[in-house]
Amino acid sequence: AKAAGRNAFRFYDPQMNVEASERSRLRWLLAHAIERGELHLHFQPYFHLRSGELAGAEVLLRWTSAELGPVGPNQFIPVAEDGGQIVEIGAWVLREACAQVATWQRQGLALPAVAVNLSILQFRHGDLVQQVADALRDSGLPARQLELEITESVLMHETDKVFATADNLKALGVRLAIDDFGTGYSSLAYLKRLNVDKLKIDQSFVRDALASPSTTAIVRAIVDMARAMELEVVAEGIETAAERDFLAATHCAMGQGYLFARPMPADQFEAFLAVRAAG
Ligand code: C2E
Ligand code: CA
Ligand code: CA
Ligand code: CA
Repeated sequence: AKAAGRNAFRFYDPQMNVEASERSRLRWLLAHAIERGELHLHFQPYFHLRSGELAGAEVLLRWTSAELGPVGPNQFIPVAEDGGQIVEIGAWVLREACAQVATWQRQGLALPAVAVNLSILQFRHGDLVQQVADALRDSGLPARQLELEITESVLMHETDKVFATADNLKALGVRLAIDDFGTGYSSLAYLKRLNVDKLKIDQSFVRDALASPSTTAIVRAIVDMARAMELEVVAEGIETAAERDFLAATHCAMGQGYLFARPMPADQFEAFLAVRAAG
């Protein structure tokens, strides 16, 4: 009877209920986040490691809910993917990012590249190519300045559709980057076929590279492979000067991380661009 009682209790695990109802609450609140103006973009710059020159910025989505306060993307993106809202939200991010960067450009605050994260669901959605084309046309941002980041998990599904979408995106003139590279299973043949432009080395490798010889070897191998395939390579999550120095010595061309700058809201990033334009 006791065991049955425990099982029955586990079935009604209050923690599970909290999680389930929190998720449905998040999903409900997220459905109204765009129209309520609760979503905004942060910008995190990345740099050429040798010269220190600005190479571009990654757009990172932020949600400040009236009810819940700030909610991190690691919490709400999976919910938006489950509920399908990521397609609409992703289209909004694309439009907003292109419009903002084009506006800065007209003000003399040029950004060499802007990188936007795509969800696998956007990549499988038939409208993505049209959404990207619309965002470029409406903003006037040159296509070559837009980079689209996809994680390796995108590559695991619906190969033919993914190739076709990638080809159509490349035909628009945008650049493709593989995000969190090294955490998935993509083969060299796959990267070549996808006609990718750039690899982003996942921050977990950067974190361990100095302490773990096997991780050091992995980072070296990724950088060498990128060079051999004539792909750009960016290391993510650089937090210390030692990490930066190791990556520069390994000939990793670009870096991003808290050592250089945290993600910033648009007004703060505009001030950052203005200082660099003036200097
Ligand atoms: P990600 O694309 O891998 O983005 C990098 C994450 O690392 C960001 O977290 C960034 O703030 C953080 N980061 C940057 N530098 C450092 C560092 O030096 N140290 C550490 N510890 N972290 C650093 P964030 O902004 O919380 O975003 C988390 C994830 O949410 C992103 O990972 C991305 O997968 C997703 N995400 C963010 N914005 C969007 C979006 O607009 N669309 C989609 N589909 N996903 C997004
Ligand atoms: Ca990313
Ligand atoms: Ca990443
Ligand atoms: Ca990530």
